[in-house]
Amino acid sequence: MNQTKEPMPAYTVQILESSFLNHDVKRFIVEKPEGYHFIPGQATDVAINLPEWKDQLRPFTFISLNDAPYLEFAVKIYDEHDGVTKQLGKTNAGASLILHDPFGTIHYKGPGIFIAAGAGLTPFLAIFRELYHHKMLQGNTLILSNKTSEDIIYPEELIKMLGANFINVFTREGVIGFIDRRIDRRYLVETIRDFSGNFYICGPDLFVKEISGYLLSLGASADTLVFEK
Ligand SMILES: Cc1cc2nc3c(=O)[nH]c(=O)nc-3n(C[C@H](O)[C@H](O)[C@H](O)COP(=O)(O)OP(=O)(O)OC[C@H]3O[C@@H](n4cnc5c(N)ncnc54)[C@H](O)[C@@H]3O)c2cc1C
Repeated sequence: MNQTKEPMPAYTVQILESSFLNHDVKRFIVEKPEGYHFIPGQATDVAINLPEWKDQLRPFTFISLNDAPYLEFAVKIYDEHDGVTKQLGKTNAGASLILHDPFGTIHYKGPGIFIAAGAGLTPFLAIFRELYHHKMLQGNTLILSNKTSEDIIYPEELIKMLGANFINVFTREGVIGFIDRRIDRRYLVETIRDFSGNFYICGPDLFVKEISGYLLSLGASADTLVFEK
């Protein structure tokens, strides 16, 4: 079959491994279709390959290295309502998913400050892994907001890759040695010295809107802000 003639190619892939990374984020290792290529930071629309779910597409971000022979995703499971992620919470190795082509506007364009909330880390994790793999991660900083320390995914790897350039902000937990507050305008003023570099922002829509607004008001220019449009 010539897949280039399809308006939206779909790839049925098997889940090879699945496990919970923390209380609500689940990691999936899935088969990589032959010739499949993405730019770190990109996502794809995913459906569960079951009759009642195959039309329910939801975007998830690749976090594996492009060279890896498999694809990896980290999915926050929303158990409180009957959506795709709740079903993914019950979906394990041996089941299959339907992937589509990669899409997305978050690409690395040079060293900068990455500001993420919760599962919004995933595109940045993919970028950091690729840069670290090529020994090019230096000069990048991550400011990551989560409710508590339990919510961070891959904390050891982030520390290994970024060292002191990995800054945690917890909104709901007092943990000695960490900053317990929200990322707001004041936090940015206190934490960032130079607003002329690149900024990468990912998280819930309101988070992206607010942080972008603060950065622009503090002197960042619109063409240095990278976020999903
Ligand atoms: C480009 C892109 C890349 C993404 N990459 C990732 C990723 O790598 N990992 C990841 O975890 N997420 C990622 N997301 C977010 C992910 O797509 C959503 O979390 C997912 O679509 C939710 O699907 P769902 O069917 O479970 O929830 P939906 O039913 O689609 O609901 C979506 C949202 O509404 C809320 N909601 C709706 N109904 C209820 C209800 N009854 N009770 C409580 N809450 C409700 C939920 O909080 C949820 O956030 C990405 C999003 C985009 C746009």
